[in-house]
This record gives sequence, C-alpha cells and structure tokens, in this order.
Amino acid sequence: MSLLITNGRIITASDDYHADIFCQDETITAIGRDLPSHRFQADRTIDAKGQYVLPGGIDVHTHLDMPFGGTTSADDFESGTMAAAFGGTTSVIDFAIQYRGQTMRHALDEWRRKAEGKAAIDYAFHMIVTELEDAGLNEMDRMVRDEGVSSFKLFMAYPGVFMVDDATIFRALRRTGDNGGLVCMHAENGGVIDELVKEAIRKGHKSPKYHALTRPSRAEGEATGRAIALAEMAGVPIYIVHLSSADALEKVKQARDMGLPAYAETCPQYLFLSYDNYEEPGFDGAKYVMSPPLREKWHQDVLWKGLAKNDLQVISTDHCPFCMREQKELGRDDFSKIPNGAPGIETRLTLVHDGGVRQKRITLNRFVELCSTTPAKMFGLFPRKGTIAVGSDADLVVFDPAAKTTLGVKTLHMRVDYNPYEGTIVEGSPSTVISGGRVVIDNGQFVGKKGAGRFLRRQNGHVSC
Ligand SMILES: [Zn+2]
Repeated sequence: MSLLITNGRIITASDDYHADIFCQDETITAIGRDLPSHRFQADRTIDAKGQYVLPGGIDVHTHLDMPFGGTTSADDFESGTMAAAFGGTTSVIDFAIQYRGQTMRHALDEWRRKAEGKAAIDYAFHMIVTELEDAGLNEMDRMVRDEGVSSFKLFMAYPGVFMVDDATIFRALRRTGDNGGLVCMHAENGGVIDELVKEAIRKGHKSPKYHALTRPSRAEGEATGRAIALAEMAGVPIYIVHLSSADALEKVKQARDMGLPAYAETCPQYLFLSYDNYEEPGFDGAKYVMSPPLREKWHQDVLWKGLAKNDLQVISTDHCPFCMREQKELGRDDFSKIPNGAPGIETRLTLVHDGGVRQKRITLNRFVELCSTTPAKMFGLFPRKGTIAVGSDADLVVFDPAAKTTLGVKTLHMRVDYNPYEGTIVEGSPSTVISGGRVVIDNGQFVGKKGAGRFLRRQNGHVSC
C-alpha cells in the first residue's frame, strides 16, 4: 500500500514548508516538491492544498478501560483510540497499574490484553507503581530493558489506593538513574487533601464544588516542589503530570532556571475550563471532577505563558471519561465518591490549535512540538514518531485550519454522555488522519480497523532542558 500526499504545508516542530510526502506501507519514504509521478506511483493520492500536514498527535496520558472507585472509565481501547484518531492523535501512552501484592509483569500483561485486538492506533504503556520492594526494583529494570516500558508513574495523592511515601519515591527515582527510565509524578499532597475532604464531609459540604475546594493549588505546589527536590537528591530527571496551577508551575520554573531536568505537562482542561464550571447548577459540577481540579481562571494565562516559554513541555489529555448516568452519579450525595476524570482524547488538537495558535499564544511549530514532537522525545518514541521525516512512521494528520466544528456529544465520538466543551465552536480540525500508512479518518468517517494498532516498545527518552 502506498500513499501520496500532495500540495500540503508541512509543519514540524522546527520547519514550515510546502512539499509532497510519499509513504510506502507504514513508513515515510520520500519528501520533496513535485515528486515525479513515474517514480512515485501511489495507490492513493490525497490533495492537501490549503491544509497543514502535521505529524500524528501523541497523547502520553490516557486512562482507557481503567477501574476507578468501583466503576471503569467509559472508553475502552476500541472506542477510545477511534475517538483519538478522529481528533488527530495516532499514538497513545496509557497506564498499566501494578496494584499492591501484584507484579509489574502481571499489570503489563493485563493492560496489553485490554488493548490487543481493540486499539485502532499505536499504543504504549507507562507503569503505575504502588509499592516497591527489592523485587520491584529489579522488575523496573526488566520493564525498561526487555518490555519497552521506560516510564513509571507514582502518586503523592490518593492515600490507601495509589499514594506512596517519599522513601518509595526516592527509591524509584534512584533506580531510574541506573536503568534510564523516567518517573512521572502525580503531585498533590494527599495527606492534606484527605484531611480537608474529611472535614468538608463532616460539615455537610458534599456538592461537587467541594472537590475543588478541598484540593488547593498550594497542595499541588508543595508536592511538585517536593518531587523535584527528591529527584534532585537522586540526581535524575522528573516529569510532573497534569500540572494545573501557577503554584506548581512556579516550582518547575525555579528548578529549570537552576538547570535541573524538571519537566511537566498540562492538559486542555486547565487551559480552557476553570473553577467556575463547578458552580454550574444542580449536579453538573460533577462533569469537571478530576484531579487536580480546575483552578481559578487566572491560572490559565500563566499556563499558556509556561507553554510558550518552555517551562511546560507537553500537552496531554488525562482522558478518563465517566458518564454522568450511573458513574458520576455515584457521588450525587458525596463529592468524594464522584469518579475522578473527564473526556478529552478527541479534542486536544482542535482546542489547542483554536485557543493557542489562532489566539497567537503559541506558534504552529510550538503546537506540533507540544502535542507530538516533545511527547515522542520525552518517552522514547522519537524519531519513529513525533516528526515528518524519511524513515519515520507514516502517522500524519491533514489538518484544515479553516474547518469549523461545534464540540459536543453529538459531533464527537468518545463513549460518554456529556462533553465539558459542549457547544464550543473551534476553528481547525483534522480532515484526513493516517496511522502507520493507512487512512483511518477520511472525510469525517472512521475507515480504520480495530486491532490494527501496534504495541510500541519504547526506548529511554531524551530531551535536552
Ligand atoms: Zn491520569
């Protein structure tokens, strides 16, 4: 199968030029202006005139088919990766969970089983670590060396479920100094939050907004600073996931100004939504219950500046959808029982293009860098993924910068009964999406195949500060 994309404006993290792209099977094999048709005969030609051609989006933070609080996230690897493809994302890195008393091997097998035969685009896994004895340290090495699982997520929040203590964090960090892996941190002070939640419940403060009011941004700032200090003492890099507040960003910025390899991602919800959403009538605030919570609106500007100035390196989604019916409803009488998470896997590129590029907060090159190139570099997928180059995977998005879309349950494809951006009109969206040389989205239709996505064994990541 061969594919020719003509007349497109190719955008990578560093370049912006007009050329044709020829893909043979799953690989880009030629790029050039007016590729001669006798040498580059394609089974299919796509005319990208007037459109951008971007490297496929890489979402390094998704939770498909994930158990949480007595229920399971509403998208599995089939529906979730199809929705991702609609949104121009062609690779995801999801999280396998090593529960206490279980091995990482068991967790990886379990999550690969969830994805196999279902995923429509390529996928990889981080390993969530909830305990780390000596055997676990050796398993970390094996995950990095033999399984292509080169990153580990630890939690400073959710006591009794995911939270680990500083000693465990320090052990994990030190081990990555030897095996070359990367620790990703959920940085919120779980002890403080737990106290505030108990107090709120005791006082009868049970509506959704108290989810946000019991998770102050200071708790995120404190944990972010502590995580970075632990990494500094261990002499290794660290990556903060879903950074939501100015308090936390300040810690990352300070560290980077000192030359420390501290990195962080943020997510569209923290750029486009705010605490005000929790004040929506009735139980509607539950739609936005996620951790960290949405912050006051002024944090948004600070985060955008962080993205522009490279204090933040990545935009991921933390896609973890729960329906209002039967799922979010579990917490109707008690916010602490509302499953944490919201949908976003499909709307990342459109939102960031509209609110970032069109509003001139970031450049087109930076848009690609944040949504594809740096994610690939950070997590060991570059240059196979994350750029448009001869030899790279043919994961491409033909993106129409003028196409208008109204975001909402009816127009989107995530398997969830609400959308946080319902009714928002965005300009710019993918018209054709190619994954591994196969067209998966064509004229607004999914034409890919479930199960066609491949498990990606990752290298160790490399990013220069
Ligand atoms: Zn998450």
